[in-house]
Amino acid sequence: MAEIITDRELRHSIETTISHSQYFLFVVSPYIDLDEDLKKAFSHIKPDVVKTIVYRESDNSNINSGISKDSRLFFKSLPNIELVAVKNLHAKFFMNESYTVISTMNLTSSSNHNYEIGVEIENEKEYEMFKGCSDYLIHDILDSEDSDISKERLKNIIPKQLFVLDYNSYEVKINGTPIDLKKFESFHKYCNTKHGYCIRCESTKIDFYPNRPLCPKCFSEWSKYKNSNYDEKHCHRCGRETTTSINDPLCTDCSDVYEFEIEREWKKMSKK
Ligand SMILES: [Zn+2]
Ligand SMILES: [Zn+2]
Repeated sequence: MAEIITDRELRHSIETTISHSQYFLFVVSPYIDLDEDLKKAFSHIKPDVVKTIVYRESDNSNINSGISKDSRLFFKSLPNIELVAVKNLHAKFFMNESYTVISTMNLTSSSNHNYEIGVEIENEKEYEMFKGCSDYLIHDILDSEDSDISKERLKNIIPKQLFVLDYNSYEVKINGTPIDLKKFESFHKYCNTKHGYCIRCESTKIDFYPNRPLCPKCFSEWSKYKNSNYDEKHCHRCGRETTTSINDPLCTDCSDVYEFEIEREWKKMSKK
């Protein structure tokens, strides 16, 4: 769920979005003057993460606008960084592959003392909002006359197509769009695992299909209450003892492998 956050919590969320970026980071902040904590957050990022910093180009009304000298020097010392100046920039938001924070806060130490409010979005859960923000940034801000980034450079910073899988026993969404369940089920022919474990009784007499992780006997027991978040005991893929549920039937390791396999099949299908 998108969440309203303010003041210190907002500042913390922005710092975490920066330091936890694994794949890409977009910082959109008209004014930038980094303090030590913000520098630390940037220093945490793995070198291969593409970091795009968008700030306001100075104009006649405000000579001091944009990015401070010290911050510019600091950014230049980081690998894979792209600095983009944009005229008339007033929007402020921060985005990595998992979270988007839209905020009134600039990336400056003085904003610590201000009243600030923002919204934190989990990209996977609210894909449409995340997509709205990234489309606005790429198409309306960066690809406009006001931005100083060339089309060539722009191509390099646009993240490759993301894959976000969201499934439960009723529906499956890939990148926010519902997918036909028959088609989705057919992907499982190409998964490494053929037989699944019942997440309640560990029976191995069922197919591997995370949308139906109970054996017929346990399923009919479950149907009396139909609580999809009820705690079960095993992972549907490896059988390991761990807390699972109908809505979340895989252990963390299996979940990673499963998403990888589904992404592969989905991309194959999308190419056709
Ligand atoms: Zn069972
Ligand atoms: Zn497992």
